[in-house]
Amino acid sequence: MTTSPDIARIVDAIRSRHRFVLSSHSRPDGDSIGSQLAMAYALKALGKEAVAINADAAPPPLLAFPGVTDIRIAAEADGPYDAAIIMECGDLARTGVQGLEQYFVINIDHHPGNTNYGQINWFNESAAACGEMVFDVVTALGVPLSVEIATHVYLAILTDTGSFHYSNITPRTFEIAGACIAAGVDPVMVARNVYDSNNMGRLKLFGAVLSAMQIDQTGRIAIVYLDHEMARAAGGTYEDTEGLINLPLTVKEIQAVVFFKEHEGETYRVSMRSKGDIDIGAIAKQFGGGGHKNAAGCTVTGAIDALQKTFVEKMERAIDRAQVEAPAVSK
Ligand code: 5GP
Ligand code: MN
Repeated sequence: MTTSPDIARIVDAIRSRHRFVLSSHSRPDGDSIGSQLAMAYALKALGKEAVAINADAAPPPLLAFPGVTDIRIAAEADGPYDAAIIMECGDLARTGVQGLEQYFVINIDHHPGNTNYGQINWFNESAAACGEMVFDVVTALGVPLSVEIATHVYLAILTDTGSFHYSNITPRTFEIAGACIAAGVDPVMVARNVYDSNNMGRLKLFGAVLSAMQIDQTGRIAIVYLDHEMARAAGGTYEDTEGLINLPLTVKEIQAVVFFKEHEGETYRVSMRSKGDIDIGAIAKQFGGGGHKNAAGCTVTGAIDALQKTFVEKMERAIDRAQVEAPAVSK
């Protein structure tokens, strides 16, 4: 258990308040939903009022988890809350929810470059998931680990480590995951809900996007692209692309992936993933986005060919840098 002074301040702030609004980033993922709802269940266990508000609905596979359909989808928070707990957001604008700054803000996050936007800020870059930090807060609050809380913490960890693939994993990750299983979480059911509950449109969409995939000239980078027309033709939606970006990385030679999704006109959402020491988070940051070393994103505008060339060049340099720095492996 981390005994940080920040956790003690968060615990005091929670104990002395009653009504909480909980928010996390727009276009939610397993870590944002898991962190938010683990915290909501813990607050309710303490007899507090906890209202979760997000800008966007959870991706369909997450709707099966407890409390997810109770999350309010709204562009603004204006209720009579004593505090706003913001999890998994490097800055307050990442929520996409207006009005949160009017409350006493508690900021709990693991993204490099967090802007310390809260009255209390707890930032731990070494946490593999924000859900690990929420677990520490729940423990410090003395709330027993219910199956609901444990399920959401486990969901956060499972998804933010790319099902235990990424380099952010620490012994603590497994300690917390172990505690969740001991509390009654069924890892098979969680994995099935997250990874094996697709609809056919999603599979067809994966097929269309992967058929059109390009590989850079060094053979190390996969470039994937999706626009509204492709999604329509395949019978899938943009929401169905969750997780698609990880598939090219299953090829041994592929070190990094960049995924361009047409938003509107020449504006694209860019997602990137990488293996090992390859830092694509720094690239996302150059374009006003953010994320982590192995998983990051940003929004860009321009001609798609030029954008692809720019990102591929930067990723090639990041791969070269990582290989230079990589320790020699004894065989
Ligand atoms: P994804 O590719 O799944 O959208 O995002 C991967 C990671 O990068 C997540 O941790 C997410 O929070 C972060 N990320 C993605 N897009 C943005 C962005 O536009 N701004 C910031 N600050 N972080 C982002
Ligand atoms: Mn996260």
